[in-house]
Amino acid sequence: MKVLDAVEGFRDDMVKTLCDLIEIKAIAPEFGGDGEYKKAEYLMKLLDGFDVVERYDVEDERVSDGLRPNIVAKVKGVLEKTIWIVSHLDVVPEGDERLWETPPFKGVVKEGKIFGRGAEDNGQSIVSSLYAAKAIIESGLTPKYTLGLVFVADEEAGSNYGIKHVLKQKIFDKEDLFVIPDIGTPKGDMIEIAEKSILWLKFVVHGQQSHASMPSGLNASRRAMEFILDLDKKLHSKFNGKNELFVPPYSTFEPTKREKNVDNINTIPGLDVSYMDCRIIPDYHVEEVLDYIEDIRSFHQMKGNSKIEIEIVQKVSSPPTPENAQIIEKLRNTIEELRGFRPGVYGIGGNTCASFFRKSGFTETAAWCTADGVAHQANEYCVIDNMVEDAKVFSILPFEPGY
Ligand SMILES: [Zn+2]
Repeated sequence: MKVLDAVEGFRDDMVKTLCDLIEIKAIAPEFGGDGEYKKAEYLMKLLDGFDVVERYDVEDERVSDGLRPNIVAKVKGVLEKTIWIVSHLDVVPEGDERLWETPPFKGVVKEGKIFGRGAEDNGQSIVSSLYAAKAIIESGLTPKYTLGLVFVADEEAGSNYGIKHVLKQKIFDKEDLFVIPDIGTPKGDMIEIAEKSILWLKFVVHGQQSHASMPSGLNASRRAMEFILDLDKKLHSKFNGKNELFVPPYSTFEPTKREKNVDNINTIPGLDVSYMDCRIIPDYHVEEVLDYIEDIRSFHQMKGNSKIEIEIVQKVSSPPTPENAQIIEKLRNTIEELRGFRPGVYGIGGNTCASFFRKSGFTETAAWCTADGVAHQANEYCVIDNMVEDAKVFSILPFEPGY
């Protein structure tokens, strides 16, 4: 098959492109970065020969170029119906630099891998989808379906400047198919079809600040601990259902961040601010969980006779993609043809751009790639063979079986 040979012929270009992408830092302003503009400009130069190249940038004064870039590019097929591959331009910061064995923003090739921040998340898939399209162009063949690439900003910090903006533009058709290559397994043997609902909560518990030797009985820290521990225990026992599609197969409710309170040991804090990260299996409505949390909040507020406030920091729910969806079947057939096995399906507690598509009514949405799962870690890497082999899957996806 000419297209597969063309992908293989691009192997060295793919390695170089990923190394170059790693070297163009693209971090959201929330995390102290300057956005993705330069990375987008670099990619624009690699899009000759595409039938459509469009930009859907969003103004953002916080970055020096003033824009958060979103690129849409297409290679036309016989049909308008499009298989879209959506990956993100931004990366998270390096974290503790002492944990890195190579400089985080330098692409270093070693033992069949490319090391660097963003190598796996999501550089590998930017490159694999890009060269899948380039291989189709190079082959001179016209696939059945149009292949669309979307490179979005702001995935790591909420997607307001990225996929949420692009989804408002009427670019996508309800008949289209979507692959989000932002979560995967080391062999590529699992396709993600569902994501748990995400609920992030902020708790503000009020008390009365006083000298620690003269307690007034309204210690915000103690009240918060009592409230959150009780809430934690009750949420786990009320919403204890299992759903074996997911890893792990149950809802999770985890108290996480806690804001600093007083500076000294001998003052009782008058305010306690903390957070909880909940990932809820679709067997429960998020509203039902919120109602239950409200009951516990009002009980503790009454008991302590002092205010407890809850703020929703993030709430995302999306319906699962049916297992018999066309995109799942197509991915399974293509992977079986190239790798000799049929992948299974699963759900995750994490959150990718797939949830925004599913939430917007695009039911033909799958998240898939082949990756060791080292996103956000120190010494993040991409296995070069995974990048090339995923490009092969993407390159023949728009063709009819047997082409
Ligand atoms: Zn990612």
